Order: sequence, then structure tokens, then C-alpha cells
Amino acid sequence: MKEIKLEALPYAEDALAPAISAKTISFHYGKHHAGYVKTLNGLVAGTSYAELSLEEIVRTAAARGDAAIFNNAAQTWNHTFYWNSLAPAGKGGAPSAALLAAIEAAFGSFDACKAALADAAVKRFGSGWAWLVAENGKVKVESTPNAETPITRSGVKPLLVVDVWEHAYYLDWQNLRADYAKTVIGTLLDWNAASRRFG
Ligand code: MN
Repeated sequence: MKEIKLEALPYAEDALAPAISAKTISFHYGKHHAGYVKTLNGLVAGTSYAELSLEEIVRTAAARGDAAIFNNAAQTWNHTFYWNSLAPAGKGGAPSAALLAAIEAAFGSFDACKAALADAAVKRFGSGWAWLVAENGKVKVESTPNAETPITRSGVKPLLVVDVWEHAYYLDWQNLRADYAKTVIGTLLDWNAASRRFG
């Protein structure tokens, strides 16, 4: 069988501090994310899922309604995408000309896009994710509950994500999700990566 691996962090655990501390990342990556990977490998062992890629497991489990496999596979994928949506402050660059044009067409301005993403992060009730996605070339903000992920919908390309589960911010920000979201969106998003994904 194919083992699903915990992908390495793209930076050191203290690289996003102080907005996201090394302590948060040590638990979030080392316990939560690693836990989803371990549970997923246990659930798919010996099943027809065992030969599939992670993306295929997410889509197949969503289609079949296999909740436990879906939740752990989607959380594995979403977390890897989250780590790769962030960059140390000052390293995330800016949207490419093509992405900026699509952002301005959709939101009016880059600042309005970031404000819409922060709003989605704040308004997601309970646990979930705030996403910037491209759908048929159009840039959109959306949020998903729990483990839900845009990759189950064809034609949707995730560009960036912000984790708004409490475990993502509680050690650093306690109840202040809006401050966490605004700081992450304002200083840590990897716009170079979003630009590559947008194409
Ligand atoms: Mn998380």
C-alpha cells in the first residue's frame, strides 16, 4: 500500500512568529496535522483507498459519504495547503499582474479582497477554513466548515487558505479570531504561491 506522508513544513517552526508562534506550530503541525495523517493511514489500510493519492482519497470519500476517511484525508490535505499558503513576514511577495487583475475585477482592490477573506474567516461559525479560490478564472472568497474543502468541486482551484479552527490561533490570540485573521492575511499570506497556482 501507499502510505500518506506528513509533508515537511516549508519553513522553521518559529518562522511565522509572533503572529503564529513556534508553540502553536509545534502542536498544530506536530500533533493535529500529524494526527490526521496517522489516523488516515490506519483507516485506509487494507481498503480500496490504500492505492489512491491523497486528492483521490478526498474526492472518493466525499462521493461515497465515507465520513471518517473524508474528514482525516481532507484535514491532511487542507493543513498541507495551509502551511503552503503562509510565508514568513516580508517573504510572501505580491499578486502577479494576472492575479491582481482578477482580484481587482472581483473585489475592486487588493485591500478589498483581503478584507473579504478576513470577513469570511471571522464569520465562519465554529471550526473551518477561509479560502481564496479561482473558479473558471474568477477569484472568489469562500469558507468551509470543519474538514470541508473546495477540491471536491471540479473547476475550483484553491489559491490560499486560512485555518480558523481554534487550535490554529488559541495559544497566541485566545478568543481574538479577527485579530489572528487580519494579521495572518495582512502579513503572512504567500502571494507568490497564490500567483503560481492561479497561473
Ligand atoms: Mn488546523
